[in-house]
Amino acid sequence: MQLTIRNLSKTYSNGVKALQDVSLDIPTGMYGLLGPNGAGKSTLMRTVATLQTADSGSVMLGDLNVLEDKEELRRRLGYLPQEFGVYARLSAVGMLTHLATLKGIPSGERKEVVNALLQRVNLWEHRKKAVSSYSGGMRQRFGIAQALLGAPQLIIVDEPTAGLDPGERNRFYNLLSEIGENVIVILSTHIVEDVKELCSNMAIINNGRVLYAGSPDAALEQLQGKVWEKAIAKSEFEAYQQQYQVISSKLVAGKPIIHVLSDARPAEGFQPVDADLEDVFFAKIMAGSL
Ligand code: ADP
Repeated sequence: MQLTIRNLSKTYSNGVKALQDVSLDIPTGMYGLLGPNGAGKSTLMRTVATLQTADSGSVMLGDLNVLEDKEELRRRLGYLPQEFGVYARLSAVGMLTHLATLKGIPSGERKEVVNALLQRVNLWEHRKKAVSSYSGGMRQRFGIAQALLGAPQLIIVDEPTAGLDPGERNRFYNLLSEIGENVIVILSTHIVEDVKELCSNMAIINNGRVLYAGSPDAALEQLQGKVWEKAIAKSEFEAYQQQYQVISSKLVAGKPIIHVLSDARPAEGFQPVDADLEDVFFAKIMAGSL
């Protein structure tokens, strides 16, 4: 099974080109869709989920024509949207049973399916509590449970870790990585960390364009020997930015440490460092906006 996206374009009525000729091959397993806010990730995910239309292009899930057979796609899709959950005061069991009904799961199987999912996402103890009373992490795990209803072939998870504390984020990661191996899981996020820990394949998009598609390892390989690090004074930051290709900076004990992209040592005082995915992300985005 593969999700094949070809030449997808979308311009909103205000003139924003949210997708520009996007083509991606997405195999089974966890796939990271990485891009800054406004890159076009939600537009792409909502188009694949058939919640909005594109101007042109095609999407195939195996041999299913997604954009033409929306009903069938929705049967095979589990979707955890960015804004999940303004709920009435239904319990998790009640809500999930309701959603199982909507998904067409036969009444004789519903109870078993719902119970199994609540156990799987570790909410069994809290199954009788109102979903609206859940913490952010519990809510996201409930979101995964509802996305798994009906044994989907494609699962789309849009910005799942926003607002989760580190402990909740870890539990959520573990849960995601346990989801079946024969399922396509697309994880859309602006957080490099999410992709680094979970995904064997990824794409970086910005301004509606694909800047990179491949494995995180291959992307890191491209930057091998080209990332240089230097601790500088805050007052020097702008000068360095003008002179070098600064791809990232972080404060360590109040002092900026910059990463610069360069084929050779940029100047005295720069040390070579192993590239990380954060470097890849910013290097691609800088190169894409030149
Ligand atoms: P992301 O999910 O990566 O943050 P989006 O797909 O939400 O990106 O947005 C891509 C671009 O399209 C942004 O510039 C955004 O402002 C714009 N956009 C998104 N939805 C609409 C809409 N309904 N109408 C007009 N512009 C939109």
